[in-house]
Amino acid sequence: MTTRSCGGVCTAGLPGNQQSSDVPQIEELKERIRGLEEERSGLLDSCSELRASHEILLETIGAANQKQVQAEMLSMELEQVFSSCADAMWVVRNDKTVVRANDAMLTLLGKSAEEVVGRLCRNVLEASLCNEKSCPLKPSACTVAAKEYDVSRGLPSGEQQHFIVTAAPLVTLDGTPGIVTQFKDITDRKKAEAALAKANDALARMARLDSLTQLPNRRSFDETIEQQWRRLAREEQELALVLCDIDCFKQYNDTYGHQAGDECLRQVAKVLGDCAKRVGDLACRYGGEEFIFLLPNTPLEGAAKFADRVRRAVEALAFPHVTSRAASVVTLSLGVAAQVPCADSLPDVLLKEADDALYQAKESGRNRVVVA
Ligand code: GH3
Ligand code: MG
Ligand code: MG
Repeated sequence: MTTRSCGGVCTAGLPGNQQSSDVPQIEELKERIRGLEEERSGLLDSCSELRASHEILLETIGAANQKQVQAEMLSMELEQVFSSCADAMWVVRNDKTVVRANDAMLTLLGKSAEEVVGRLCRNVLEASLCNEKSCPLKPSACTVAAKEYDVSRGLPSGEQQHFIVTAAPLVTLDGTPGIVTQFKDITDRKKAEAALAKANDALARMARLDSLTQLPNRRSFDETIEQQWRRLAREEQELALVLCDIDCFKQYNDTYGHQAGDECLRQVAKVLGDCAKRVGDLACRYGGEEFIFLLPNTPLEGAAKFADRVRRAVEALAFPHVTSRAASVVTLSLGVAAQVPCADSLPDVLLKEADDALYQAKESGRNRVVVA
């Protein structure tokens, strides 16, 4: 019996023929084993690659989860900021459906979220800009930057509510374009402004009115004569002045008392006011018991006739004046002057002429008209 070594594989004990036929099989097995070992090591490599990829994947998923949590927290935070903001806000899609409205907006509208969200904005808040070109919700109206609008709406009480509306474009959560709109209620401010404007008007009117007689006062006369002087100088038209003074008025006060004197002044002023009928004619209280008429586009003769009508109207009042040296009733003395104003002169000369004429009327017996 012989022993043969073949490739390290012991074939001892096999019959000769069988031993030689098994050799290729062994080689084949060896080859397969080598292949399997290579495959195994390849698989081990893939395994570790997969493990590395798995770890990267886990890290990425972790980071993504963290980002999602952060995003959710941020969204909750923004939601809180939105809903607790003191200014009323809502988000409206370009199709004009309300997407969300904060608490202040719901309070402003006096409605619940269910009555607002999902509805058309103009059905919830009908305001002055609705259906107009400048409506902030027109896609073309608010394209890039935020814009401000003055908006008002009628309340059931009949009052107007005023807002400053700031509208800015945004993409809503479902990805469609829309607008976030902020409403600042300025009704109280508007009311205060209107009250202030009214008070200023009243103040300006009062500053030009005589409080006792309600006729325009001296300030008003000074302003008006200056304007008329320039205008009539341009037009080369006459300006007439009629200066009136109640006769013996000191005696009237002494006889009937100061309050009766005031009442007399009011009644005379009313008559004078009624005499100034033509557009542009102005009757003013010039001071004390003196009044003045400004009669634009009036020549001297016309002014003299007018002055006598005034004199007779006051006489016709028939206010008793037992201590007057002129008559038994309250009367006026009147001085009349007229001229075509000159652009480079002042109305003082004309005033002086009327005053001189009035002095003449007093000197010559009172209750009369003297023309300069
Ligand atoms: P004459 O005919 O020359 O004009 O005499 P007169 O007494 O009217 O003139 P005088 O200037 O001497 O007196 C004017 C008076 O008018 C004196 C003043 O007390 C009175 N008077 C002026 N303003 C008022 C007023 O607002 N109320 C009252 N009750 N009297 C006034
Ligand atoms: Mg006087
Ligand atoms: Mg007088």
